[in-house]
Amino acid sequence: MNISLQAELGDFRNRLTIYTYALKMSFVAVMLSSVVIALLLLPLDWAGVLPMPLEHAVIYGVALSWLIGGIVSGVLALVAGYAMHQLSVSRAEFERLSRTDMLSGLLNRRAFTEALDKVDGQACLAIFDVDRFKAINDRFGHTCGDAVIIAVSAELAAAFTGKSMVARLGGEEFGVMVVAPLKEERVAQIKSVCATLAENPIAVDGLMVNITVSAGIAELGEGRSKEAVYSAADKALYLAKTLGRNRVIHEDEGLQRRLRNPDEITHDGRSAVMH
Ligand code: GH3
Ligand code: MG
Ligand code: MG
Repeated sequence: MNISLQAELGDFRNRLTIYTYALKMSFVAVMLSSVVIALLLLPLDWAGVLPMPLEHAVIYGVALSWLIGGIVSGVLALVAGYAMHQLSVSRAEFERLSRTDMLSGLLNRRAFTEALDKVDGQACLAIFDVDRFKAINDRFGHTCGDAVIIAVSAELAAAFTGKSMVARLGGEEFGVMVVAPLKEERVAQIKSVCATLAENPIAVDGLMVNITVSAGIAELGEGRSKEAVYSAADKALYLAKTLGRNRVIHEDEGLQRRLRNPDEITHDGRSAVMH
C-alpha cells in the first residue's frame, strides 16, 4: 500500500513532496471550483437573479475561487501531506526495526532469509556459533554475554563488507552470506575472522574474555533451496563442534570425512565421536 502510494503521489518521507502535493491539490481545487462557479452562474443569469452582469459575476467568482478556494485547499492539502509524511516516516522506521536485531544492530533472521533469496551464485552461507557461550554467561553474567555478542557482531560486520551480509540468527549464532568469486577466497575470509576472534580477547568492564568460534559453511548454488543450504551449513557447524570446536568446516569436508571414515560421522552429518 505504501509502495503504491509512493508510486502515485511521490515519496512522502521527502518534505518537498508535501509542498508539491499541496500546490497540485490546491491548483486542481481552484480549477474545479472556477468551472463549477462559471457553470452555476449561467442558469442564474438566465433566471435573471444575478445582481450584476454575467461577465462581472464570472470574474468575481473565478477571482474568489482562486483567492479563498486556493488558500483553503492549499492549507488542507498541507495538513494531509504532513499526516502522510508522518505515516511514511513511521512506516519506514517500523520496517527497519522489523528487520533489525535489537542487541547487535545486525539484520535479524527474517531479513537475512529474505536476502538469501536474492543471491545469484558465487556466495556461501556461513553459520558462526560462539563456543561454550553458556559458560561465559554462567561465569561472567548475562550482561557480559551480551557484550560478547555485540563485540562478535561488530567484528563480523567489519570483516564482511560489500555484497556480503551479516545477521544475528539468534542467541550467539550468526549467519553470514559471504560473496566472493572463488570458494577458497570465501573460506579464507571465514577462517580469518574466526582466527581474529580467537586471538583477540574481548574487553568487558575491565575483564578480558577469551572466546573461540566454530563455523559451518554451505554453498549457495543456483537452484539449491535455501532450506537445503541452511541445513547443510548447520550440519557442518555441528561437525565443527563435535570435532573439538574452534574450527571451520565446509560441507564438502563433511562429505569427504563421511566417505573416508563412515563410522566417525553418522548419516545426518553428525560426528559419532563425542569430544
Ligand atoms: P556450544 O559450544 O555447543 O555452542 O555451547 P554453547 O554453550 O555456546 O551453546 P548453548 O546453545 O548451550 O548456549 C547458548 C547460550 O546462549 C544459552 C542461552 O542462555 C544464551 N543466550 C541466548 N541468547 C542470549 C542473549 O541474547 N544474551 C546472552 N547473554 N545469552 C544468550
Ligand atoms: Mg554456542
Ligand atoms: Mg548456539
